[in-house]
Amino acid sequence: MNKLAQEIASIIAQDGPISVERYMSLCLSHPTLGYYMTRDPFGADGDFITSPEISQMFGELVGLWSAEAWASSGSPTPARLVELGPGRGVLMADALRAARVAGSFYATLEVTMVETSEKLVEAQRARLAAVERPVGWVESVDALPLGPAVIIANEFFDALPVRHYVRTDHGWCERQIGLVDGRFAFGAAPEPERYLTVDAPVGAVLEVAAMSQRIMMTLAARIVMQGGVLLVVDYGHTQTALGETLQAMRRHAFVDPLETPGEADLTTHVDFAGLVRAARAAGAQTHGPVMQGRFLRQIGIERRAEALMRNAAPEQREAVASSLARLTSEDKPTDMGRLFKALAVTRKSSAPLPGFIEEAGA
Ligand code: SAH
Repeated sequence: MNKLAQEIASIIAQDGPISVERYMSLCLSHPTLGYYMTRDPFGADGDFITSPEISQMFGELVGLWSAEAWASSGSPTPARLVELGPGRGVLMADALRAARVAGSFYATLEVTMVETSEKLVEAQRARLAAVERPVGWVESVDALPLGPAVIIANEFFDALPVRHYVRTDHGWCERQIGLVDGRFAFGAAPEPERYLTVDAPVGAVLEVAAMSQRIMMTLAARIVMQGGVLLVVDYGHTQTALGETLQAMRRHAFVDPLETPGEADLTTHVDFAGLVRAARAAGAQTHGPVMQGRFLRQIGIERRAEALMRNAAPEQREAVASSLARLTSEDKPTDMGRLFKALAVTRKSSAPLPGFIEEAGA
């Protein structure tokens, strides 16, 4: 057992089995042993790779999209650009470089990064050291400066802890993690949750992204009151369904989520229908979700790729073409262009946003 596993085992020995939500949150955010607190998980040498790490085009296009979304919401000053869970800061660095062409946006731009990991704050600070516009950091969305903001969340919601419920013969019981013969094992709480009434066969599992929904409600309510727009890009499904999607990834391979806690990335697929319900419950308007491939094509990834290829050496040209295909392909259900979705949130009766405009025959 690693150090975090020993700590979790002693919590279970003292308090009894813990919820999946608490387990995930200990694995990801334990102050000293949590996954995001101890390591830089990104890139080819890390555990996983994200869209901005695949190609500069992703962040550049999101930067230009932000400038347009800001202009269409009335060009409020300052132009506040917020990123949730910015990883190594690659998306923001590319977005800011591209946004320089949007002069009036860039001139009044103020950036706020929302990040819990000190280690990643350091990486982001280094990456953005040369940026001429003010950049600040806060630890949670509740601490964001007031006022309209363009808020970007790429692969943020998938990293938030979820709750699981198991259907038993006496109702839905919260799924827990306990110790069986010295190893972590899934079980169920003895008492059922009375408010859960979904019909399902015994053994079915329900995944509820309570923290994601709370954060979405907070952001949507903020947008309704103060203006601005939220862009969520993540992998997930557009319909809430039974079943669980908890996955652990280490060095680009799936591993058992109960093995090596804190050493593998724990995520779930985002329930976009749940996010849409939360945003609408707060009185906001939702745009999408649409597939990432369609979103990126509509905001001009093909033109950007052509421009990059025109000035590139042959092997670079190949790299641009292959990252374009990787980000936008919709052939297989697991292709990023199809598995990943984009969702935007604005005030009611906002104009259609780039990337979310209905296409004839689509
Ligand atoms: N957006 C980046 C990184 C995604 S990984 C990219 O696309 O490359 C998830 C990020 O969210 C990490 O930066 C992690 O430290 C951060 N994070 C996880 N939980 C968080 C929370 N509750 N509040 C703020 N940031 C969080």
